[in-house]
Amino acid sequence: MKVSTIAIDGPAASGKSTIGERLARRLGYLYFDTGVMYRAVTWAALQRGIPIEDEEAVTALARSLHIDVVPPTVDDGRQYTVFTDGEDVTWAIRRPEVDANVSVVSAYRGVREELVRQQRRIAAGGRIVMVGRDIGSVVLPDADLKIYLDATVEERARRRWKERRERGEDVDYEEVLRRMRRRDQIDSSREVSPLLVPDGATVIDTTNLSIQEVMERVERLVDEQDPPEVSPVQTIADG
Ligand code: C5P
Repeated sequence: MKVSTIAIDGPAASGKSTIGERLARRLGYLYFDTGVMYRAVTWAALQRGIPIEDEEAVTALARSLHIDVVPPTVDDGRQYTVFTDGEDVTWAIRRPEVDANVSVVSAYRGVREELVRQQRRIAAGGRIVMVGRDIGSVVLPDADLKIYLDATVEERARRRWKERRERGEDVDYEEVLRRMRRRDQIDSSREVSPLLVPDGATVIDTTNLSIQEVMERVERLVDEQDPPEVSPVQTIADG
């Protein structure tokens, strides 16, 4: 297989994790969602009472925190299990207080340097689908295939709102939309590694596409990079 490292970037709820996981499963590759690492640092800071505005303290935490992402240890719908210093934080890192603070943490240069270093080490062996905001631009600029998934902010907020309602949470669509706009704004305007379409990436707008339709396009991109080998066919006319 010529396509070994695949980078998928895009804003929140653009379909990255669903598509990334399915693609990895289809190819038999490792699926790695880098957002989990920024969330884990944010959650640990909140838990330990470290002020989110204290860049130095949050950066020191990112350097010392041991983050492990392993196959699911509990059968409760999770895609993987996340441990920080041995504690299972898989669901805790999805809480609204993490959503509200993660963009501040992920804008810190020192935090990014540390997590990007760890991400490159994880991807070094290849056969990986890595998902995030800066994978094709910064973490793996030489990835074999770069995909950028996008969708309107209204559609992305609708997806998050629906997910939360299905998990039994009482959430207001307008509030989800407002928070998503804010997170988009910080992620796109930050000085270090802002969210952008990486050089050489193929953009797929998923606003009006089903998961199946997005998968078909992504699989086509993989196949185009890696055409199946066909032996030359001799026709009678050749002879
Ligand atoms: O993808 P997810 O919504 O879980 O990411 C959470 C946050 O982590 C993003 O809003 C962004 O601030 C940050 N992030 C990042 N770079 C990545 C992945 C996530 O800055 N590669």
